[in-house]
Amino acid sequence: MDSKGALIVISGPAGAGKGTVVKELMKDENMRLSISATTRAPRGQEQNGVEYYFLTKEEFEKMIAEDGFYEYAQYVGNYYGSPKKPVEQWRKEGKNVILEIEVQGCQKVKKIEPECVSIFIKPPSLEILEKRLRGRGTETEEAILKRMARAKEELPLAADYDYVVINDSLEDCVAQVRSIIAGL
Ligand code: ADP
Ligand code: 5GP
Repeated sequence: MDSKGALIVISGPAGAGKGTVVKELMKDENMRLSISATTRAPRGQEQNGVEYYFLTKEEFEKMIAEDGFYEYAQYVGNYYGSPKKPVEQWRKEGKNVILEIEVQGCQKVKKIEPECVSIFIKPPSLEILEKRLRGRGTETEEAILKRMARAKEELPLAADYDYVVINDSLEDCVAQVRSIIAGL
């Protein structure tokens, strides 16, 4: 790896365990997580500037017009995007940057930065995915059904990723992702 930090894209259906895995990866001092902007409403205890920057549609579209996003996409009726500045700044400083984004965003990042490494976190089965999503207890029934429908569309796209890691045992999943990153 040269002195510029790596760009690591992590995707996977809602409930697969991306957030849980990323939290473990963030224990590495050289790792940074891009905080995305979204137009969806905060969920549970989420705070502005911590899990996401919560923007109105107008604010988000203004930021698109000002070329403020590294990438952005729409997902089940809302905008999601990665603010450009922190990603570029951290990588310049030699930090490894994680983008935890959905599949369309990953496709865009691959065009901008072919050197990025993409990792798809896959649940052991759709049944377990639904159980985890429900077990998290943060979504309405409508949101769960939309996310499960989207999951069925997203799972076949795992084939486009550099690595697919199944999140059955969390410990094994984190170890596998760490070894991928260590090999960069
Ligand atoms: P995502 O960020 O992909 O939407 P989360 O990280 O929020 O998913 O995980 C969804 C739920 O599944 C959470 O309640 C989390 O604690 C749980 N979970 C994550 N990984 C595992 C695992 N390996 N085994 C069992 N439960 C898990
Ligand atoms: P959630 O609403 O469950 O937090 O996120 C929904 C989906 O949006 C997840 O698949 C998540 O990875 C994705 N996502 C979060 N931030 C971004 C982003 O900045 N860009 C893109 N393209 N997807 C994002």
